[in-house]
Amino acid sequence: MLSGSRSRLSLATLGLISALSGPAGAQTPAKELFGSEATPSAGPPQSIGFYSKGCLSGAMEMPKDGPTWQVMKPSRNRAFAHPTMIRFLQRLSADAAREAHWRGLLFGDMAQPRGGPMKDGHASHQIGLDADIYLTEMPTRRLSPHERDTMPLPSVIDKRTNRIDLSRWRPEMLKLIRTAAREPEVERIFVHPGIKEQLCKTAGRDRAWLNKVRPMFGHDYHFHVRISCQPGSPNCQSQESTGKGDGCDKLDWWFNVALRPPPPNAKPYKKPPPIFMAALPKACAAVLNQPAAKGGAVMAASPAPSLPQPPPPVAAAMSDDFDDGVQPAPIASPAPPPLAPATSAPAYAPEPPGGLPMPRFRPAH
Ligand SMILES: [Zn+2]
Repeated sequence: MLSGSRSRLSLATLGLISALSGPAGAQTPAKELFGSEATPSAGPPQSIGFYSKGCLSGAMEMPKDGPTWQVMKPSRNRAFAHPTMIRFLQRLSADAAREAHWRGLLFGDMAQPRGGPMKDGHASHQIGLDADIYLTEMPTRRLSPHERDTMPLPSVIDKRTNRIDLSRWRPEMLKLIRTAAREPEVERIFVHPGIKEQLCKTAGRDRAWLNKVRPMFGHDYHFHVRISCQPGSPNCQSQESTGKGDGCDKLDWWFNVALRPPPPNAKPYKKPPPIFMAALPKACAAVLNQPAAKGGAVMAASPAPSLPQPPPPVAAAMSDDFDDGVQPAPIASPAPPPLAPATSAPAYAPEPPGGLPMPRFRPAH
């Protein structure tokens, strides 16, 4: 199995070296290059760039099974992350069992072996600090690889109302998300606005943790955990602070604008152009060309690529994630919408409360 993936990797790497050195490489979307990598690079772990524009060296793979977790979607080969994230998720699974009475976590996508853009599914998850966790409790038995790829993972949202489906929601889900949000490493958690609303209604008096729980398109059958840049990653670009407050007074925009069907005169959604290597940090080309880590894991010691200065935090306008099948239209500028009625509706809604400009519609796909 390992030698098989190594030989696939070396073929891929050879192909990439020639692709990168010629004009064809410049025209190959980065998602194709990173999506062909089967194993992590050697070298110390480093998150390079931003959550939605970067890559990962020295990744570690989450073991498929642990006492309190199972890894889903094994055919995607996306259970790689920064080693601190791997250890954090394992600890979280034990904490959730203890504090939320949640038998175990079912992990979804983390990152590709060398991070980077993905062929499908996520705008972020590129630097090994993001992970999806399903709102389905780990079953009492070990699932087969086929079951892990195909098992239904139901939504907790009523698609007609965008509100929580109380026949599927369980109080333990609040405890689970709260346990994750209280972990000091966690910077943000993304959930569907209907889930956030339910958390707001039922959190009780201790609400500080709700600050990290951010409403987002999708995320109705899983939640997304993002941890902060880790020591030893000088080129990791951190995200702006989530500010103050529990955010529970800022959900109207989601239900009244963002999740509503587009008006008939709305501009059609245009898929953003793919990311090319030139748009990623320069060190990401080196990550593609690095040899594979021995055993497909981590902790070898070749020099990691580095850039001279840590970049500044990225403004909130570019910062949040759009997951699961759809990448957002690029947010061209945070300019306010026209005051007068436009002849055709703007492609973007006004800034939602909290100053985070978002695409107006979740495009059909
Ligand atoms: Zn995610």
